[in-house]
Amino acid sequence: MRCIAWDIGAIFQPTMSPRCASRWTPAMPGGQLRATMDEPDPNFMRLALAQAALAEAAGEVPVGAVVVRDGEVIGAGYNHPIGAHDPTLHAEIVALRAAGRHLGNYRLAGCDLYVTLEPCAMCAGAIQHARIRRLVWGAADPKTGACGSVVDLFAEPRLNHHATVVSGVLADACVQTLQAFFARRRAEARARRQGGRTAQAGEADDTPEGARSGNRA
Ligand code: ZN
Repeated sequence: MRCIAWDIGAIFQPTMSPRCASRWTPAMPGGQLRATMDEPDPNFMRLALAQAALAEAAGEVPVGAVVVRDGEVIGAGYNHPIGAHDPTLHAEIVALRAAGRHLGNYRLAGCDLYVTLEPCAMCAGAIQHARIRRLVWGAADPKTGACGSVVDLFAEPRLNHHATVVSGVLADACVQTLQAFFARRRAEARARRQGGRTAQAGEADDTPEGARSGNRA
């Protein structure tokens, strides 16, 4: 049984293939925390949250994902459609592509995908095409969630492949990550509006209030 451990002041060494390790960040949430692979879902979700932090650092909505096979991360990714000018670059898609390159196969047999936000219809389709064995997600997405919140593509009997779906893993941390991001964005928008009014009194201001929770761009 592999062991994953976090300790204050220690550098966390996740079970991760060398190709993925360069994309991992040690800025893990949680403080003192020690866990083993007896609880793999929270541990791998924390790695997905670390990917979400990379999205936030890039100015994107913080959603992260990892693909795991035999207890090892073989693909990781974060949401960045805005910076890449690519509407398909949700965290799940990025992680699936990385795992496919790692395995040299577009079918990701025996692989599990962890993502901090309920997948949308696009990502649910990609997950099914990739033959992901098990999908684990954190926060529900009432706007575009395709695992039960808006539609449930994993419960559709006419679709060929059905992954096992586990929801709500570290949901509080995943929700908090998104809520904090959007709160900051709204505060920044308010500050811009107030600054604009000071500089240009009386001029109309159409600064957007910020994206809704669940919108990844
Ligand atoms: Zn998606």
